[in-house]
Parts: sequence; structure tokens; C-alpha cells
Amino acid sequence: MTIALKSDKEIEILREGGRRHAAILKALADMVEPGLSTLTLEEEARRLIREEGDKPAHLGYTPYGASRPFPAALCVSVNDEIVHGIPNEVPKVLKQGDVVKIDLSLIHKGMFTDSAITVGVGALDDEAQQLLEVTKAALVAGIAAALPGGKIGDIGAAISAVVEPSGFSLAKDLVGHGVGYKIHEDPYVPNVGKKGTGEELVPGLVIAIEPMVNTGKPGWKTLPDGYTISTKDGSRSAHFEHTVAITEKGNIILTSND
Ligand code: MG
Repeated sequence: MTIALKSDKEIEILREGGRRHAAILKALADMVEPGLSTLTLEEEARRLIREEGDKPAHLGYTPYGASRPFPAALCVSVNDEIVHGIPNEVPKVLKQGDVVKIDLSLIHKGMFTDSAITVGVGALDDEAQQLLEVTKAALVAGIAAALPGGKIGDIGAAISAVVEPSGFSLAKDLVGHGVGYKIHEDPYVPNVGKKGTGEELVPGLVIAIEPMVNTGKPGWKTLPDGYTISTKDGSRSAHFEHTVAITEKGNIILTSND
């Protein structure tokens, strides 16, 4: 394992990229309504990224073990799709009550940020609304536990402590990761863990924290397109993700405009 710590100057670049990243996700979320095609989200994402002079990291990226490069700038995953849905191959038309995950990795001045949101199409039913609340609360708890002097396991312990009592489940073995110079770097950031175990959280560490929560069981499968991961039992899933820098004093949520 090689953990590449980032300098203050690099974290500043990531912060600027993260602000742009948050603005793009917000603009895309605001477009979501019944009748919208996921292809329109993809096209608008490319336009917004280009307009700022930045680049989408997923487009053309071939993860380890994949047989072809990812064909889109965005991952858009609907309802039982957990992550890595492809919006421009077989575009979907969104309908009232759908649970839509929009995941973007952005390259600004050569530095990578990763962030995802889940948006309801129109009004959601009670279960879906609760799913979004629990998943968001799990991310907030995970970030609050990502402190200098702590361990990676503190983050997973905090996330699972929020998800477990809800009766929902964390998608099995899907994890967060280091980020900054590349989309995926060491260390892994699991959504389950034991407090006080794992790699140390040190200033300069930049990680993507990303709980993925299913209303049903933890199991998932990869669809024949080779990328889309959906729940095995057809239950719905939500995903929230931020890129976070560990600092001397605490942490900074890089992909936020707050
Ligand atoms: Mg990620």
C-alpha cells in the first residue's frame, strides 16, 4: 500500500476543484424531474465541465479488471442500481418517485475530486425518503469521524452505527478510497470497521467517503454492460459521497459549497 499525502498547495487546488464539482452536481440535481433523460444529464455535465476548463475523470477510464473504458463522464444509477450506471448507452427516462444517484469525478488542474448525490424524482415514498436521510446521515457521521490521529476504522464504525439501526444495509464490500492524483488511490475506506483499527488518519490524507445503502439485503451483482452494479434483491439503493482532506485541526470537505 502506498498512501500519497497531499501538500497544502495541492489541497487548495482540490478545494477549488471541489467547489466547481459541487456546483455542477447542484446544477444537475436541479434538472432532475419526471421525463428527463439520463442522457441529458450526461450532456449537461460535459458542457458544464468543459465550460470551466476541467475534465471528467470517469470518461475513458479503465479500472483494473475492466474489459473496456467507461464511456461516460457521469455515473447515473437509478433505483436498484447502486453505482456505475452508464447514462449514454441505454438512456433512461426518469419517472416520478425514482431514486437517482449522480456520481462525478472531476479533474481540475490535474487533481481529482470524487463526489456523489442521490436525488428523488418528484416526491418520494416514505421508504425512499428515509433511505436518503439515513445514507446522508451516514456520510455526515463518517466525515465527523475522519480526524487526525484517528484510524480508517473509525470512519466505517461511525457509518455502520448510523445504518445498522435503520434496518437498511450497506452494500457489501463496496468502499471509499484515497483520491487526488488519481480516481482511486490507497487506502481503502470501508463503510464498516472497528474504531481504532486500520491506517492512521494523518494531515494531508485525502479520501473519498461514500456510504452506499440498500433498503434490502447487502448483496449486489454487475450487469452485462460490465459496469452497472445493482442490488441482487432488486431493492433500492442510495449513495452520498464527498472528498475530504484530513488537516492538522480536523478535516475539510473539499466537494462542498457550504
Ligand atoms: Mg468514489
